[in-house]
Amino acid sequence: MTFKTLRDFDLKGKTVLLRADLNVPAKDGVVTDTTRIDRLKPTIDWLIQQGAKTLVLSHFGRPKGGYEAEFSLAFLTPVLHKSWGVPVSFGKDCIGADAQKLAENLQPGQVGLLENLRFHKGEEANDPAFIKELAKLGDIYINDAFSAAHRAHASTEGLAHHMPTGAGFLMEAELNALSDALESPQRPVVAIVGGAKISTKLSVLDNLVRKVDVLFLGGGMANTFLFAQGVEVGKSLCERDMAEEARKIIKTAQDSGCEIVLPNDRVILKEFGKNAPHTICKTTDVPADHEAVDIGPASVELLRSKLSTAKTVLWNGPLGVFEVEPFDKGTNEAARTVAAFTTQGTLVSVAGGGDTVSALEHAGVADQFTYVSTAGGAFLEWMEGKVLPGVAALSAYKNAA
Ligand code: AMP
Repeated sequence: MTFKTLRDFDLKGKTVLLRADLNVPAKDGVVTDTTRIDRLKPTIDWLIQQGAKTLVLSHFGRPKGGYEAEFSLAFLTPVLHKSWGVPVSFGKDCIGADAQKLAENLQPGQVGLLENLRFHKGEEANDPAFIKELAKLGDIYINDAFSAAHRAHASTEGLAHHMPTGAGFLMEAELNALSDALESPQRPVVAIVGGAKISTKLSVLDNLVRKVDVLFLGGGMANTFLFAQGVEVGKSLCERDMAEEARKIIKTAQDSGCEIVLPNDRVILKEFGKNAPHTICKTTDVPADHEAVDIGPASVELLRSKLSTAKTVLWNGPLGVFEVEPFDKGTNEAARTVAAFTTQGTLVSVAGGGDTVSALEHAGVADQFTYVSTAGGAFLEWMEGKVLPGVAALSAYKNAA
């Protein structure tokens, strides 16, 4: 698809409505992970250098359509200042007199933040009246929130129909990385999918087996696939009622020439707990009173052999219960293997979605992947092959004009 980017606009003296995703993890008013904020810096730097007046728009949490102090964005201004290196003024509302005043007072090169968009019902309803109020505040709309692009909300989709629109650098980088991994990848492509259940990722699996060359399955969901093929999984997490769905995916994979690779050994135990006594056995030898909580060393080796001839890897979901030591080992070693091939230059590696980022950070190699997406739901919907409304809308204004 074609869309404009920041480089396509004359930004001097223009007021830019920058849709960011500042829905960052926070505890007791302190941001616990600033990755999403830090990744916006190239966009902010460009807007400042070009002399734009930048008004940042974002949602935060799930307020119910009116003001709720715990969801106010005001606490973020010092955090943004520190990350972006520029003071950030604050507007107590995202539309109306307060927003207008902030917009009017901004000078070229300055940055302002508007209050949580979801304090107005019109945001999630994609309400034309609310969109008009937002649109009044600026000249150009830049969407840099890929992680919110699976929602057709006023600030993620609606605005694009009303103003000159483009993608910010973060959105652009994300779309390029995702396209390199699944739309026009270098082959062979390996997908690694882990996590707890197949029921939450059925559409993802169905889409992947049609597009990739090898699908390596780990985590709890591997158990459902094993069970579906008649393998004893003991007390392991397993969605027995999903066996038929698993068999359908296996059939689709066969028809599409995709090889499904399941772990060939497992880390098993009787009683789960940190550093609980455990052993390693062949996948086919899990006793009825044991559960499998991680992949074993032979499975990591098997994955390594697939990756050694691959050119692209796409990863979602941990391969074991990585939150509890030492059952993080399979995920850690698989992550280090991907990182090593990426560093050698033989593999393009893209990962994302929910727990995946924390699993790769825990393994200490997230920064050695080609691209790690901070998007959760949007990343998964993209892996399902869906067109995200916020991405589709990037070219809407040109088409409407
Ligand atoms: P998801 O959100 O579907 O990616 O699932 C992530 C969760 O899957 C993590 O909390 C892991 O602890 C869990 N998980 C991974 N492997 C297993 C397993 N073999 N048994 C139970 N839970 C698992």
